[in-house]
Parts: sequence; C-alpha cells; structure tokens
Amino acid sequence: MTFKQLEIVDPILKALDAQGYTNPTPIQEQSIPILLKGRDLLGCAQTGTGKTAAFGIPIIQHLYNDKSESKGRRKIKALVVTPTRELAIQISENFTAYGKHANVRNTVIFGGVKQGAQVNALKAGVDVLVATPGRLLDLIQQGFITLNHIEYFVLDEADQMLDMGFIHDIKKIIAKLPSKRQSLFFSATMPPNIVDLSTQILGNYDKVTVRPEQATADKVEQGVYFVPKKMKIKLLIQVLNQKRAESTLIFARTKHGSDKVVRLLEKAGIKAAAIHGNKSQNQRQKALGKFKDGDLKVLIATDIAARGIDVSKLELVINYELPNVPETYVHRIGRTGRAKESGTALSFCDMEERAYLKTIQKLIKQQIPVIEDHEFAAEAEEEVIIPKSQRQQRPPRNKKRNSDSRSGYRNQGSNGNQNSKRRNSSSKRRDSYSK
Ligand code: AMP
Repeated sequence: MTFKQLEIVDPILKALDAQGYTNPTPIQEQSIPILLKGRDLLGCAQTGTGKTAAFGIPIIQHLYNDKSESKGRRKIKALVVTPTRELAIQISENFTAYGKHANVRNTVIFGGVKQGAQVNALKAGVDVLVATPGRLLDLIQQGFITLNHIEYFVLDEADQMLDMGFIHDIKKIIAKLPSKRQSLFFSATMPPNIVDLSTQILGNYDKVTVRPEQATADKVEQGVYFVPKKMKIKLLIQVLNQKRAESTLIFARTKHGSDKVVRLLEKAGIKAAAIHGNKSQNQRQKALGKFKDGDLKVLIATDIAARGIDVSKLELVINYELPNVPETYVHRIGRTGRAKESGTALSFCDMEERAYLKTIQKLIKQQIPVIEDHEFAAEAEEEVIIPKSQRQQRPPRNKKRNSDSRSGYRNQGSNGNQNSKRRNSSSKRRDSYSK
C-alpha cells in the first residue's frame, strides 16, 4: 500500500516524500480512508504508531480541497487538543511538515509561557490550531479565539488527558464547538470513562485499533534486570557505560526522582538532563532540543513529560522504575523502535515492582528476558555490581557478624521476604547505634 493509493493529493505526497515516508503505517492505512470520507473516528492507538499523520494528512487534505472560503483572514477550521506542551509542539511541527505545499497554516498554543507571541500568531490567521486545554480556554475567554468555525476536532491522548484532570476543561471546550463537525478521538487505552467521553464527542463513528502488542513486539528488543532499589543507580551507570548509546531515554516515576538520577549520573561523569512538570518550558525545550540534536545523550523523563518526545533514532529506553499501569510500559518502550527504527528497552525491576512486571508481561503477552539477576541485597554498598550468576559463594553467616549493624544488612538471603528482612536489619542497625 502506498500513500498515492490512499488518494492523497500531490502537494501532501510531495511533503511526505520529503519526510522519507514511503508507505503508510497500519493506523494510517486504516484511518485515512475513513477520515477522507468525512466520518468520525475512534482511534485506539498510542504515540509512536504514526497517529499524528493518520489524522493530520486527511485534515490537511480537506482544508486544501476546500478553497471556497480562502478569501480574507483565515479562520480556525481544525482544532487539535492534546495534554502536554511537548506533544502540542510535536503535532504542530508535523502539520507544518505535511502541509508545507498545501498552503495550510497552523499554530500551537500551550501554557507556562507568555501569551504574546501565541496571540500574534493567532491574529495573523491560521487554519489549524493545536492546543493544550488550559491555554485554549484562557485565550477563548480573553476573546482571542473563537471555535465557531471548527469543522475538524481532534481529541488526542484522551486517557492521559483524564489522568491529568482535564475532564472539566474538555467538557467546556466541547460545549463551544459547532455541532456539525468531524470528530476524531484518540486514546491508547479504553477504560469505561474514556468510552463514555468518546460517545459524548463522536457522532456516527468508525473504530480503528492498533494494538500495543503490534507496536512493541517485533521491533523493540526488551530485557529486564532484577535489582534492589538501592543498586539501581550503580547498575544504570554500568549499563550506560557499557552500551554507549547515542540516545538514551530513562523513565523515572517522580520529578524528584528524575532530578536525583541526573545528579548521581553527573557525579559519575555522565552528562544528563531531566524533563518534568517542575521544569520551566524553556528548560524543557532546551533539554529536548539538545537531546534531539545529539548534543545530550541521556535524558531522564517522567511519563507525562515524555509523551511528546519524538526522536527518530532513539536507541535505548531504560525503565529505571517500572510503571504501575502496564499500558504505560507500552508507551514508554514505544519511544524506541518508532516507525521503521528498531531499539532496545531495558527495565530495572526491584522486589516491590515484581507485581508490575507480571501485569506488563500479561498485557504484552510476552515473557521479558531476564538479563541479570541482582536480587541479593548484599552488593548494595559495593562499588561494582556482579550478577548473581558470577558471584563467588559468600562465607556462611556467623553470629558475631550478624550482630554487627552493617553486616546485619549485608547478609540478607536472596529469597523469602527480603523487604521485611531488610526492615528488621535496618531497625537492628538503628537500635545498635542508639545504645
Ligand atoms: P506518531 O505516532 O505520530 O508520534 O509518529 C511516530 C513517528 O513515526 C514519527 O517520528 C513520525 O515522523 C514517523 N512516521 C509517521 N508516519 C510514518 C510513515 N508512514 N513512515 C515512516 N515514518 C512515519
């Protein structure tokens, strides 16, 4: 299947050619014909499947074909609402690339920066507006935007949007849209609240599903290390030094956690930066820009901040902490192995995360190969990490060592309830110090 066979007009074909796209991805192949017919669409797909072009191309084509209203200042005819600034910028860049020869103009608005430049771009007139919900409502309220002329509405990453607490904003936006419009609704997961929301937005719709398994299974090489929490940073340094990848994206669960990883990596001589919600827009863009240009090889991100990261040749993804929602794992590893590239995704799994790993494996219907098993806590304080298989037998416990506060911690067994053992030993340690 080629884009030409999908009846894409020449100016767009030319732009796609310049992007190096030869064939449509599965979501594009399925969605484009439906959207060109003007039908509503419910797309169950994640970022990394080519979803942006799946909705961007037909919208640009409609706008290109509809030249009747080309007189006067451009009115916003297409609105794309997406949860994060990074995603919004990414989508806008894609519209610019695909619409280059079709005379379709877009702009992007998001919070966290001054509104002046965004307002000026809107005043100049655009066909497509890409927006995060808060700034959109803000500028509507100030009278800089009207949604009266919207013909195409895209709600992107709907599940993430609800997770981020945008439901009221979304309802307000929907209430302002003309009832006659084409609606597109994309979500990576379809829990009941998302299905509810989709029925409020969509009319008579077709559904397209690109299953996460397809997106991950064949292209991403996966592996897991079993490692105690305390040893993760040492393992990370070792893995980064071994792999020497051109681009590595590391996922941490919290903002604070990602900053800590950056500090510890820098201490070990590895240049890194973190992007998350506490960083200013400028800091995030700067770090992302350097990462994309290859000036920065290691980037640490939280899930929300990483949603918009699109680096065409991302070599390595490391789950420094495993996500508790299995679909998030699929999103994360989908950062590598995008479109036609292949990549590697490594996960660091501690004792408490074993349950998460189980649900992930169930979702992806795969057993992730174990690369190394560092389950022993004993090495937690050592400089070099030695996999369990390569370790020498330790001397048997002796009572004297056991009563020592430090070795009490160091002589943990590998199985049984390690955490409670650890807690016991550390409370032992406190006791011996307080004596
Ligand atoms: P998306 O899911 O929209 O974030 O797209 C993921 C990546 O795939 C982006 O880097 C796109 O530029 C790229 N891409 C989208 N469609 C195609 C295609 N038909 N052929 C090759 N790459 C594509």
